Amino acid sequence: MTSIQHPVLLEELRRITGPSHVLCDGDLSAYTQDWRKRTQGKALAVVRPASVEEVAASVKACAAAGVSLVPQGGNTGLAVGSVPDESGTQVVLSLQRMNAVRAIDTANLTLTVEAGCILQNLQDAAEKAGFLFPLSLAAEGSCTIGGNLATNAGGTQVVRYGNARDLCLGLEVVTAQGEIWHGLSGLRKDNTGYDLRDLFVGSEGTLGIITAATLKLYPQPAARLTAWAAVPSMDAAVTLLGLAHQHLGAGLSGFEVMGQFALSLVDKHFAQLRVPLFKEAPWCVLLENSDHESEAHARTQFEGLLETAFEQGCVSDAVVAENLAQAHQLWHIRENIPLAQAEEGLNIKHDISIAVSRIPEFVEATDALLRQHIEGVRLVNFGHLGDGNLHYNVQAPEGGDAKAFLRDREEEVNTLVYDSVARFDGSISAEHGVGSLKTDKLAIYKSPVALSMMHAIKGALDPRNIMNPGRIVRL
Ligand code: FAD
Ligand code: ZN
Repeated sequence: MTSIQHPVLLEELRRITGPSHVLCDGDLSAYTQDWRKRTQGKALAVVRPASVEEVAASVKACAAAGVSLVPQGGNTGLAVGSVPDESGTQVVLSLQRMNAVRAIDTANLTLTVEAGCILQNLQDAAEKAGFLFPLSLAAEGSCTIGGNLATNAGGTQVVRYGNARDLCLGLEVVTAQGEIWHGLSGLRKDNTGYDLRDLFVGSEGTLGIITAATLKLYPQPAARLTAWAAVPSMDAAVTLLGLAHQHLGAGLSGFEVMGQFALSLVDKHFAQLRVPLFKEAPWCVLLENSDHESEAHARTQFEGLLETAFEQGCVSDAVVAENLAQAHQLWHIRENIPLAQAEEGLNIKHDISIAVSRIPEFVEATDALLRQHIEGVRLVNFGHLGDGNLHYNVQAPEGGDAKAFLRDREEEVNTLVYDSVARFDGSISAEHGVGSLKTDKLAIYKSPVALSMMHAIKGALDPRNIMNPGRIVRL
């Protein structure tokens, strides 16, 4: 089917949004290719509405024509959920033009924004009003809050503030029928039946389109201090996490773990970043303390923590950033691991979670399994240990053909890793979502009872299967 077969729909969409906001020709790859360039889709059109009414009218028009929609924010998603398939029959509905900050309620500690608002702009708006919006991830300069909520994004501050779901109090949503649900409540308590907000959070555009959200604001901490510690084992890293909870309490706002090989790739490809302490230790940990008293207080707390950690032998060496510039430099190293990995060549990514207490055992068992099956396999392991979330990635053996490795071994590697995750009662997607990349895997690893409830929800809210079909569950 080509756009020629849908002249009436396209005319209607042009009437709704204005002709310049229905894109059919030219290079549309910014909307049709996923961030990791794993797939190149084809769109019937990209429509860019500017208001909730225009979104609702666009959905109604598509539904009437039997055309499915792919909601899209910043197109930074890592699970191939935000781009159309290759059929050329789907409409991409981009929220980019709906980017206004609608209201800030400083007494209620809430901010209401439209879905297309870039995360960094939202953080800046909160800061300008004297508050903190804590969701933070490396894609924050281009991802949108609608996409963050649709994927229930995590990032680096989850250990203290929770993920996107925990930061959301209300939503405005356009349903698959083109109706508008005005659910922009700023209520912290509301027990009037099923939680519809939580149904749409994490639904990856398969149930409806998020057009606005009311979000929680927090006081800005008085100081943010960062430390980098070398630890002798993953066990020691988990012990350090327990000590950090005890010593820093609610101040613990970041706890990232990085394997030696992951850091060696940063050292190899971005030597100017000067990675500390990694050559002597199998793991390094990045910790952040957000203190509401003062920098001096935060430093004293860190010193107490590290003293105990040295005594217990769970830290072999450590540095505490002297100033903000040094702290940024340390975080920059962590954020550059995925880029260093890309420089090293194509790789197989996993975004998994396991109960923190079982992570050392999981890593030991899964590392051994992969090494047994694939000679010379290189494991790039890093992630948000504070949340039990590892980016357990697999790189082709040194000097090998990475493309061939992916083609020939990806399925086998995924099965080895996900079977191991299942044995440890973990999740195959901790923060990036299912998209189309993991739809088949979900059908294997999610319990049949959970899957059948998910099918029932999808069937009830989107019976014609027009909202991002084929993602998460296939009807
Ligand atoms: P998109 O990519 O446009 O869409 C993602 C999904 O949400 C799609 O299924 C889409 O259909 C749906 N969607 C988008 N907007 C809406 C809407 N308004 N209504 C309904 N559905 C919608 N993720 C993390 O969780 N933690 C990280 O630390 C992290 N780091 C990243 C670092 C980099 C460098 C990159 C590129 C990505 C990272 N991600 C991370 C993944 C990604 O950035 C997040 O998932 C982000 O939340 C996606 O937002 P987006 O606006 O780009 O959404
Ligand atoms: Zn992450």
